Amino acid sequence: MPVPGNMMSLPLLISSILTHAVTNNPNQLIVTALGNGSIHRYRYADFATRTRKLAVGLQANNIQPGDRVGTLAWNTHRHLEIYYATAGIGVICHTINPRLHLDQIAFIINDAQDTVVFFDQHFSELVEQLIPLCPAVQQWVVLQEPDNACHEGRPNYAQWLQHDYAQFTWPQFDENTASGLCYTSGTTGNPKGALYAHRSTVLHAYASCHPDALGISRKNTVMPLVPMFHVNAWGLPYSALMSGAKIVMPGADLSGAALYQLCESEGVTLSAGVPSVWQGLVDHAQTNGLSFSTLDRAVIGGSACPPAMITALARMGVSVRHAWGMTEVSPLGTVCTLLPEQESFDDTEKLHILASQGRPLFGAQFSIMDENGQALPHDGKTTGNLMIRGNWVIERYYGHDETALENGWFHTGDVASIDANGYMRITDRSKDVIKSGGEWISSIDIENIALEHTDVLSAACIARADKKWGERPILIIMKKPATTPTAEGILALYKDRVAKWMVPDDVYFIDNMPMTATGKLQKTTLRTMFFEPREQSA
Ligand code: AMP
Repeated sequence: MPVPGNMMSLPLLISSILTHAVTNNPNQLIVTALGNGSIHRYRYADFATRTRKLAVGLQANNIQPGDRVGTLAWNTHRHLEIYYATAGIGVICHTINPRLHLDQIAFIINDAQDTVVFFDQHFSELVEQLIPLCPAVQQWVVLQEPDNACHEGRPNYAQWLQHDYAQFTWPQFDENTASGLCYTSGTTGNPKGALYAHRSTVLHAYASCHPDALGISRKNTVMPLVPMFHVNAWGLPYSALMSGAKIVMPGADLSGAALYQLCESEGVTLSAGVPSVWQGLVDHAQTNGLSFSTLDRAVIGGSACPPAMITALARMGVSVRHAWGMTEVSPLGTVCTLLPEQESFDDTEKLHILASQGRPLFGAQFSIMDENGQALPHDGKTTGNLMIRGNWVIERYYGHDETALENGWFHTGDVASIDANGYMRITDRSKDVIKSGGEWISSIDIENIALEHTDVLSAACIARADKKWGERPILIIMKKPATTPTAEGILALYKDRVAKWMVPDDVYFIDNMPMTATGKLQKTTLRTMFFEPREQSA
């Protein structure tokens, strides 16, 4: 008969990350770019003190465990303080994506029933529009200091840090208590909330520090480009503190020039973000003939990382770790690194592997299934609906009673293959798949080839209805400034690379690629722009 183990069972709480960080690395730095070249710099010890002050400030303002506190903020030290102070006392930190449509933001705040919203001055205008739409919010607090900074007579952050914290200690509670809330971007229908727990967050942070995942250590200087307002900046606010790494917060300016400057001046070794932000940084470095003196590792995810970006960064001495994740998965599920036996492969083979979404973190399990929920083989060829389960995967959406699972698995909405070593390769979002003459065409593969063209900035492959074939692939291109790529030149890249029937039928050029609030191609908009009006009028 099994017997219980005899080991301690301390709850996995976010406050334990902070306590560990300040006890063991009190002098490590957290640096924030405040804009206009101004830099804020303080130690973990100072961060911990202010976080405790804020925790007392939250309690003094009658914020109760379980309440939701909203944030509309860039990656800054203040945002980090809110992350830890709220969760530390059992309050839920609700990060809000300011890039969403006004109505969606209001919906999210009302759905979450935020009692207080902390906002960067940068979002003042947005907040003025939100106030009448969100009557339940009791306080809108501008993230400004010192005491006399004010915004339309609203309280400022300094007023929340004035309390006596000498007697304060972090409370202990159940590790399954909710810690954070983030809504999906909701391209169809209203956004839905993923409610993270202390346990899921701490386990996710542990797993992401693994050498074959993000590999974060005390030696790293970590710059999260991925916003703290979307899926906890991929857990970096937790994993970096857990590891004792130096943290560099880029603030509001995510331009290639600003990020390059910050990277160099602060000695950033590891950074993480979506391909569109990395593109700005790579372009800036290439255009100005610059290289990186300290940057060693680029974690790229959120949408498929084009192989051309892996190659461009490799030329600058930066190795790419392609990662896959989603809001409902906290977000990390897989990260791509080579196996030792693959190190001797030729460059083309290695690039092919590195462009896959990689292998599961311990704590996340994957399966691909057909439409009837039957598991498909992990042979690296068969594609199916990507399903996930694990310690930091959603079970149900916030405020929903029904489970979000199908037979214990979460349906990601992605279509992928998995090989015998666990390498997962996304071919499409299921709603974006292209089926031509009964065969699937991976829009990601088609886009990646177009992105090899030196004049192409962004590429989207979408399906056009076709009487004969059902659907045909069409390519939409946004070119780089001051270049004149031609459709023929782009299509020539497909010769001998893919089967003839996979080559796009048409290439359209567009001035601005529609992007979602989380930096992904907005293919629904493209389909409406290019096809639906015509199809309707036909
Ligand atoms: P979100 O919840 O907004 O972060 O979006 C999650 C979705 O982004 C996933 O279901 C994928 O469709 C997409 N995604 C994330 N990472 C990748 C990646 N590395 N390659 C391709 N798609 C990705």
